[in-house]
Amino acid sequence: MTPEQFVAGLPKAELHMHIEGSIEPALFLRLARRNGVALRWQTEDELRDAYRFTDLQDFLNLYYDGCRVLVAPQDFHDVTRDYLRRAHADRVLHAEMFLGVQGHTSRGVPLAAVMEGVFGAMDAAEAEDGMSSGLIVVVQRHRSEDEALALLEELRPWYGRLLGFGLGGAELGNPPSKFAGFFRCCRERGFKVVAHAGEEGPAAYVREAVELLQVQRVDHGNACLDDPALVAQLVRLRIPLTVCPLSNLKLQLVPSMAAHPLRRLMDAGLCVTVNSDDPSYFGGYVNDNYLACQQALGLGRDDLTSLARNSFEAAFITPEQRSAAFRAVDAWVAHSIQQAAA
Ligand SMILES: [Zn+2]
Repeated sequence: MTPEQFVAGLPKAELHMHIEGSIEPALFLRLARRNGVALRWQTEDELRDAYRFTDLQDFLNLYYDGCRVLVAPQDFHDVTRDYLRRAHADRVLHAEMFLGVQGHTSRGVPLAAVMEGVFGAMDAAEAEDGMSSGLIVVVQRHRSEDEALALLEELRPWYGRLLGFGLGGAELGNPPSKFAGFFRCCRERGFKVVAHAGEEGPAAYVREAVELLQVQRVDHGNACLDDPALVAQLVRLRIPLTVCPLSNLKLQLVPSMAAHPLRRLMDAGLCVTVNSDDPSYFGGYVNDNYLACQQALGLGRDDLTSLARNSFEAAFITPEQRSAAFRAVDAWVAHSIQQAAA
């Protein structure tokens, strides 16, 4: 069995992806036509050519512009369903997806249109593919905490379906501490909480996310390596990191995959997971990320299996789901050993 075949069949969870970042060029152009949205690009190739970024802000400018093609419930349904199909094909058993609701409501899209479209697609994935998923609303850190608190109120009709809240967008100059009150409210209402930290920002932002926001996972978190005491704390508390290797490469946070800190994060004893972030913009879905790391960092089967097990440990799922997922991983590993012996 080749590494490609092993990764393809390895059961996994994906915990860090943005629904808006999974619009493939063909769907992007179709939605633009459907909604009469004028674009700077006419073809899929022109659009792919535009996906070259110098840093996070450069990417966010194009990303927010791209969100304009999402207008009606069916648009949100289509993009979510397409992602879940691709994830299912990558043997993702469970996905936790981010949605930047403010980027849509600020353009005048009704909150109900966004939520109904996404939840409809999640229901369809469960019914058609037996795949579970959860939704985490990400508040944009360049906006105020008051706006985040207002959104929390507006989302009340969907509390029963929401998994939790996160923090995303332009990191530098917008430290987690800016949202301490918002995160306290989310926790008090029983939601899971996560935050992007230590992607472009410093280790101090990771520390704030853990200590002030009391997050249950850190999204990215790469910068923690600059602070050994923080690494020890993350290991002791077993707080997972949702690392996104191809995203880091595309946004030029690392010069090459060989220079990616994934291996060092794993060697430090951290609960590391591998994820796609914005798969259509960053050139790959979750299995592409596993394979890019396997090739550049020389990960073996045991390493890949650990990453998959970590993804289920870090997922917001029931103990029964977790046990079943671990059994599926063990069965796949046993199958691969049998194949090698045959
Ligand atoms: Zn992200």
